[in-house]
Amino acid sequence: MSKVFDTTFLAIALLFLAIFVLKLGDPATVSAAAASGAAEPLPIYAGWRGGIDFLYSMGDWLMTPVVWFYGVLLQGLPFLKSDWFPSFSMAECAVYFNKLTTENPGGWDWLKPLATWMQTPQYAGLFAGSFHTLTLLGVIALFVLRAVVDHSFETVKNLLWNTYIEFTFTRRKQEQYLEAIRKEQEARDRLNEEYNTLTQQTSQLQTSVVTDEMTKVYNKRFFVEKLREELAFAKKNRTQLSLVMMDVDHFKKFNDTYGHLLGDKVLIKVAEIANGNTPDDCYCCRYGGEEFGVIMPGKDYEEAVKIADAIRLSIPQARFEEDPNIEIHISQGLCVLDFRIPELQAITAIEQIVKVSDDELYRAKQEGRNRLCARVFEYQT
Ligand code: GH3
Ligand code: MG
Ligand code: MG
Repeated sequence: MSKVFDTTFLAIALLFLAIFVLKLGDPATVSAAAASGAAEPLPIYAGWRGGIDFLYSMGDWLMTPVVWFYGVLLQGLPFLKSDWFPSFSMAECAVYFNKLTTENPGGWDWLKPLATWMQTPQYAGLFAGSFHTLTLLGVIALFVLRAVVDHSFETVKNLLWNTYIEFTFTRRKQEQYLEAIRKEQEARDRLNEEYNTLTQQTSQLQTSVVTDEMTKVYNKRFFVEKLREELAFAKKNRTQLSLVMMDVDHFKKFNDTYGHLLGDKVLIKVAEIANGNTPDDCYCCRYGGEEFGVIMPGKDYEEAVKIADAIRLSIPQARFEEDPNIEIHISQGLCVLDFRIPELQAITAIEQIVKVSDDELYRAKQEGRNRLCARVFEYQT
């Protein structure tokens, strides 16, 4: 729409420009210019006059509505005279402009320089005889103005539009990123949660694998593995290793008297006391049934006896609400090995150590129970 309009406008303006140029060679213009003392028009136009009459009259005919419109614009009804085909001199125009500026002081001041300019002889000749020139200039001015306004409007509109697009695009991108970040965060939180649960379960599993369910001390599996490990360490580093095996005295009879439920309670209590008297660097384990073993890495005879005695002497102090007269005793078999003795390197299996402890335990039973028997392999310096 704008393009069609602009093209038409440009075409009309160019036509009027052509007419304006041709008019310079019009004899009437030439003589009017001469009469007003203007400089000689360029002779080049004189020869064209005959060939351009037709174009010129067509131009006049085309101009009529424009001139009429322009006249109305300037409130210049007098320019129109009696017909719609105005033909008046620049001088008349200047007079009218002068009249306008005089009657409306201040209102038409901008016309003054134009009126003065039009009355200058050189230019008066140029414009003489027709109002078309003014019309042409008006049309060109309108065209230029429109182009300028159009361009400015387009520029501003593009700027605003681009800014808007940029803004909405950026905002949408930002929303997308935020959404993606939120989802990532959620996924990470979920994974973290799963990881924590798994870690917890693994830890529980690890504990349960080496823990005796009833007494909560280490189970036989742990006992075997730990003893094997400590035997290897003691052999390699030529250090000491002690093991005390413990067995509840007359426990079968206890079960028969008080029942297995209370028997269980006793085992739990025995384990608790034994474990409570076991140092942190030693391991209290349930070997099976009513038998317990305490592995004592690095402990010599004296230290091992101290630990074993503390356990054995504490157990009878345990009291049970079912019967305050109940008193539990245990027997102990201790084996103390000092691997500085070269011959002990011959020990290759933990069963050999357990057997020594068991033998001593058996001896303790034989000798009347509620006691400790020990076999010690001491290094003689
Ligand atoms: P000793 O003084 O010679 O060791 O005699 P004891 O009766 O303790 O020896 P024995 O090995 O004949 O009996 C062990 C008893 O321990 C037999 C069994 O019923 C009991 N026992 C083993 N494990 C458990 C248990 O988990 N709970 C209960 N209540 N009793 C158990
Ligand atoms: Mg037993
Ligand atoms: Mg027993």
